[in-house]
Amino acid sequence: MKWHVLGSFGGSSPTCRMTSFLINGELALDAGSITQALPLDAQRRIRRIVLTHSHLDHTASIPFLVENTFGAQREALEILLTPQVLHTVKLHLFNNDTWPDFTRIPNDLLPALRLVQIEPRQPVSVNGLRLTPVPVRHIVPTHGYLIEDEGGAVLFTSDTGPTEEVWQVANRTSHLRAVITEVSFPNRMQNVADVSLHLTPSSLAGELAKLTRDVPVYLYHLKPAYVEELRTELAATRFSRHVEELRQGDVYTF
Ligand SMILES: [Zn+2]
Ligand SMILES: [Zn+2]
Repeated sequence: MKWHVLGSFGGSSPTCRMTSFLINGELALDAGSITQALPLDAQRRIRRIVLTHSHLDHTASIPFLVENTFGAQREALEILLTPQVLHTVKLHLFNNDTWPDFTRIPNDLLPALRLVQIEPRQPVSVNGLRLTPVPVRHIVPTHGYLIEDEGGAVLFTSDTGPTEEVWQVANRTSHLRAVITEVSFPNRMQNVADVSLHLTPSSLAGELAKLTRDVPVYLYHLKPAYVEELRTELAATRFSRHVEELRQGDVYTF
């Protein structure tokens, strides 16, 4: 499967950190920067978004994507999300205050947007892929996803501090091709990372020690203010496997 890393910032010196991936050109995984990264015709091909959690750096472009694609397609744009994320998106994004409630526009029967609830640990089939939400440990309810096709599987942890279940899922997935996980703060900010449930290079190394599959690991979520410091620390960290930073704008084939 092809993963396009949608960035709203330059690869070598980021100024803003948003998270979204476009899988096989049509399924978005998180939606921090879809409208900033893609031209309109590519935006219109996206009819489904899967969300890992409700934080703005993963959801900010949804209101504008709905607006940009409104009326261009007969069927609604679908957002797949777990119960607590659905609640938060309804309450804070499409509430008729921050943005119109597109789940009722133009009307209840043919809305522009549908919020589709999916259940933790229950696989769903979408766009020829099998997606399984796996709980991770973040400051708001968050699920990583195991994403499978006939060729293999990719595990995206989403934002997380030290966690367990997602690594157990990775270890029992024999056709796993890659893991995408986060690193956010440098080691000197371990306390901030621990409180906000993110990783430093040091705690990332601890997490990767739980992964027994011999697969490459790709990193996202390096905070722009610390990116050079993080790169230096990552280069100095002894990982027992291949670890590299995802490049904004690049397409990876897994
Ligand atoms: Zn987050
Ligand atoms: Zn985030």
